[in-house]
Amino acid sequence: MPKTNLEVSLIGIPDNLLDIIYTACRTCYSADGAVEIINNITDDNEKKLALIRRVISSGHYSTIEHIQLTFAINNISRAATHQLVRHRHMSFSQKSQRYVREKGEFDFIVPPAIEANKELYKKFEQHMKDTADLYQEFLQNGIKGEDARSILPNATTSSMVASLNLRELIHLANLRLCTRAQLEIRMVVKKMCALVEEREPWLAEHLVPKCERLGYCDEDNSCGRMKKKNG
Ligand SMILES: Cc1cc2nc3c(=O)[nH]c(=O)nc-3n(C[C@H](O)[C@H](O)[C@H](O)COP(=O)(O)OP(=O)(O)OC[C@H]3O[C@@H](n4cnc5c(N)ncnc54)[C@H](O)[C@@H]3O)c2cc1C
Repeated sequence: MPKTNLEVSLIGIPDNLLDIIYTACRTCYSADGAVEIINNITDDNEKKLALIRRVISSGHYSTIEHIQLTFAINNISRAATHQLVRHRHMSFSQKSQRYVREKGEFDFIVPPAIEANKELYKKFEQHMKDTADLYQEFLQNGIKGEDARSILPNATTSSMVASLNLRELIHLANLRLCTRAQLEIRMVVKKMCALVEEREPWLAEHLVPKCERLGYCDEDNSCGRMKKKNG
């Protein structure tokens, strides 16, 4: 039976990311207009970063909402895409289970905890096979893909293009890099953040689980990495 590996690609990030944020920051505090600021922008990235860091740490997050990032994601489970689409400031285009009919045995994601247990993994595989057979039987009997899909499991792989602004990426990282988030979405968001950090290393300090940002853990069931909020 097929098993798949997560693929994440950063397909959109502004080349002049620092210039955009710096201009947004300076526009708030300068007598010059935004056009003059961008037209006369300094080449000194450290100077830009010093201001940007100050502005972000004061919570002026509108300045980073101008940075739009786009990712292509393959081999992610429907369970994880459902978690991603809960983020309301993100935009998505996702492979349709209405218009795309799975061919033969569909691809699915195996949670490592199940894969590690030989007995349960066997049952998992059998369940996927039985589901694939029934799905094909439905299609062969004229049931439309949009109805046949109702038996496809959460583990079925999907593919999507996902876009979000930098403020939302930081929020996404804060929530989904926390060990309370499920492993798969943690892996997806980790890859998204790593790709952005490759281009913009200064963002590493922001693309962290929320405990690092807060300085404490606000979860009921803490992983113990940080002290609890009230303890
Ligand atoms: C570990 C974990 C477990 C979870 N478990 C469950 C669960 O059991 N059941 C469940 O249903 N969900 C669950 N969720 C999903 C969670 O409740 C949120 O829907 C999801 O994380 C999106 O977060 P958000 O609303 O902060 O972010 P986004 O939708 O990305 O929004 C970002 C921020 O914008 C603001 N915002 C957005 N929309 C509004 C609005 N309408 N009104 C006011 N402010 C707004 C908020 O400040 C919000 O934090 C879980 C999430 C995590 C990380």
